[in-house]
Formats: sequence, structure tokens, C-alpha cells
Amino acid sequence: MNSPPILVVHGGAGSLASEADRRQYLAGVGEALDAGQAAHDQGCRAAVRAAVMHMEAHSIMNAGRGSSLALDGLVSMDAGFMAESDELIEVAGAPLCEPADLVTERARRLHAERLAGEPGPSVGAPLLDTVGAVALDAEGHVAAAVSTGGMSLKRPGRVGDSPIVGAGFWADDATGACVTTGVGEALMRQGTARRCVQLVASGVSAAEAAAQALDELIDYEGDVRGRSGLILVTREGEVVLDHNSPEMSAGWIAAEGGREVAHLWCR
Ligand code: ASP
Repeated sequence: MNSPPILVVHGGAGSLASEADRRQYLAGVGEALDAGQAAHDQGCRAAVRAAVMHMEAHSIMNAGRGSSLALDGLVSMDAGFMAESDELIEVAGAPLCEPADLVTERARRLHAERLAGEPGPSVGAPLLDTVGAVALDAEGHVAAAVSTGGMSLKRPGRVGDSPIVGAGFWADDATGACVTTGVGEALMRQGTARRCVQLVASGVSAAEAAAQALDELIDYEGDVRGRSGLILVTREGEVVLDHNSPEMSAGWIAAEGGREVAHLWCR
């Protein structure tokens, strides 16, 4: 199969406190898109890896350096990678660093505001959380990658959906690849990334599959409406970016070669 290379990245769903923050997110998403595109000729795996690693290094995003702090004020991160249905997690080659190097002044300030419950712009307005990328390459393979500092003020040791196959990410050459962001507990219960791709496999249109997978998150106690998002690429090259959070920053390179970087607002 010879497909046009496609790459979709997101910098998180949630809501932000200022236009300055939005500009920084968009700049980071655009740079990640460029990094992923530059690696795309090595295949979809290299593309999603390069894009996500770029966003991990970008300090405003909740992944890698700049991650949200857990209740104990430390950083602990989750990540996942999937390409081909039987090849799941890639951890080899991850560069080591001092945990303190991942903590930024911004993350510290948000952590302090949230701990104090001060009515600042960041309190009650979740950060744009998690970064992710999905890609389709010229060989017809798809890949998904995701990385996050997890929920702000999470309990130490808590693991969210992002490293869980089927919840935070799913990639299946027969249908497509999906990466989610939102409240991990609900995304894990619903298996949202896999659910979305399975809906496409069952004949539902890509846009409807994304909307339905997000809508199903609200059917349970602990309603998370307003806090989730996903990106999807199908093997046919359709791209969907959907969210029910107030905002989501994302970018994509589509089959026709068009390049878009956009701050999306709730539908
Ligand atoms: N899904 C991530 C988690 O629960 C955080 C997020 O995407 O907002 O750890």
C-alpha cells in the first residue's frame, strides 16, 4: 500500500489561563509537527516519536520537562507507544535525567495555587494535559505515542491511562491509530483509544467514532464531560481531532500536504 504520510499531534485538552499560554502551546505544537514531519521518511514510528519527544522538551506542556506535579510536589510521568498490533511499548533509549530538572517554575506556581485552593486562573481550570501524536506512513502503517506528567495533584504512584494500551493509545494497521487525553480513570474504564478505532472498524465514520467514544465517557459516575480529547488517523488517511474540553491545541499534516496548527474550541 502506498499512502500519503499523515501526522497529527496534540498538546493537550483542557483550558488555559491566558493568550500568552495559548501562543506558547501553539508554537510547541507547530515545532513538534515539524520535528515529526522531518522524521516521517523513516516511517510513522519515527514521526510520532520525534513529535512527542519535542513536546516533552517544551516546558509549557504537561509532559517531560514542565510536567504537572503530583501531590508530593514531585514529577512522575507516564508514556506509551504503539505501532503494529503486537508491538507495544518502547522504553529503550529513553534519556535519563535528574527528576528535579523536569520541574519548572510554572509547574511549581500552579502546584502551589492548586494546593492552596486559591481562586487563581489555574484553579478549577485543568491545564492542557498530556501530549500525543498519531501517524500514517507511506507503507500504510500507523503508530501512536503519548506522554504526560499525569493529573495535577495526583496521588504519588498513581498511573493514568497514558501508558495503558487501549486506554491512552491504540494503533492497528487494519484500521487506524488514536491517542486520548483527559481523566485517566474514565479513559481506562472505557478503553477509549481502542473503542474509537473499533468503532471505525465496525463501519462508523471517523468523525462519529471520535464523538461517540468521547460521549461514552459521560455515561458513568465521575462524569468527565468537558475534560477529554482525542486525535485519530484512519488507514484511509482521514484525520479527526475532537474534544469536549473547552480548548485543545493541535496540529496536523494532511494527505494533501496541508499543514495546520490550531487552538480548537469546544464544539
Ligand atoms: N490522561 C492523563 C492522566 O490521566 C492526563 C490527561 O491527559 O489530562 O494521567
